[in-house]
Amino acid sequence: MSISQLARSVRESPTLKLNEMAAWLRDKGEPVIHLGGGEPKSKAPIDAVVNCATQLNTGDVRYAPADGLPALKKAIIRYTEEHYRKLVAPENIVVSSGAKQSIMNILYCILEPKDEVIFPAPYWVSYPEMVKIAGGVPVVITPEDGSFHPRIEEIARSVGSYTKAIILNSPNNPSGIMYSSDFVADVVSLCERKNLYLIMDDLYNRLVFEGKTAPNAYEFAHDQIETSKLITVQGVSKMYAMTGFRIGWAIVHKELARAMTNIQSHQTSGPSTVSQWAAIGALNGVQTSISNMRLTLENNRNVMVDRLRAFNGINVTKPDGTFYCFPDFTAYNKDSVKLSEFLLEKVRVVVVPGKEFGMEGHLRLSYCGTIKEVTEGIERIKWALDPNAPNELFMGDRKLVRDWL
Ligand code: PMP
Repeated sequence: MSISQLARSVRESPTLKLNEMAAWLRDKGEPVIHLGGGEPKSKAPIDAVVNCATQLNTGDVRYAPADGLPALKKAIIRYTEEHYRKLVAPENIVVSSGAKQSIMNILYCILEPKDEVIFPAPYWVSYPEMVKIAGGVPVVITPEDGSFHPRIEEIARSVGSYTKAIILNSPNNPSGIMYSSDFVADVVSLCERKNLYLIMDDLYNRLVFEGKTAPNAYEFAHDQIETSKLITVQGVSKMYAMTGFRIGWAIVHKELARAMTNIQSHQTSGPSTVSQWAAIGALNGVQTSISNMRLTLENNRNVMVDRLRAFNGINVTKPDGTFYCFPDFTAYNKDSVKLSEFLLEKVRVVVVPGKEFGMEGHLRLSYCGTIKEVTEGIERIKWALDPNAPNELFMGDRKLVRDWL
């Protein structure tokens, strides 16, 4: 068989693989706790469901413009005005099958072979692979002080003649931290000075706790949209818990929008119209589902952080948003892949190894499940790792006896 070098250079998505593994174990009746998930458990907003179902009932489901239905673009324009205080035109918007495709389209359209894309660690697992698929070279900046916050000097130092873009994801998957306004302002200004694209992956920017709001990169930009290389990526997956609908979008200058639309039109002809109707319903409907979900997630975060802080040797940074926490487990095992395999094997808890996010020694724990999953999951992890824990633990009606440590 001959498989291209490109295909061979791309790794499978570790998070999707873990989901499959958890589902397989659950099917076998194993008492799995999934702290590896990447989607909120809330239901899609009722306005999304109703709008989608009403249109679907007509039985008239057709091709739509490759860059998105006009009604969806209208809703996105209103959303962008409300949440970014930025007026954009329909020609600045490209709707895709998830923010993942939006980012992929952008990279296809801006990268020449060997162009570099800079992003800080920890980073979303897909960035390095996406950059490679588009022919580019990923450049990871790992903060020297061991925190999740790179300094602008560290970013600036990595900019060279091949640098084409910087990606910022704030609040961040996997750490949950939000970059400061000063940092975002500095990156915007660096990109304007060096003529670089800045891709703001804002997928989680409505899921921020304690009444804070995520910095808005447009506030720091001097260039007008048509001359600006500032891009925002958004979608319904996380803020409306609509992961399965696969709708995301990018706000870009018109020339780039046309290029992205061309590529998308040959790949998929555009996102499913059924899903676009749902996204229209969500964006135009009652918005209480976001604040309700945010409150639940904030409560889950507090419980998870409290439990982890009571855990000797774990270093945990409190997430500002998202539904992820990224504690440092180096004191127990420096090898995050081995540690996550151990936890799955011994106590049936799914977590994602920090290595996948470019930071060894950490584990990504999600708090998007129920509070019971959060507390029981941490209790099991603690039992598995703590040498002073009692010898036995009950998982449902199954008794575990420790045969390690
Ligand atoms: N960016 C980040 C940081 C993410 O975590 C995800 C989903 N896990 C995406 C983009 C893609 O989201 P979707 O394709 O579901 O819209």
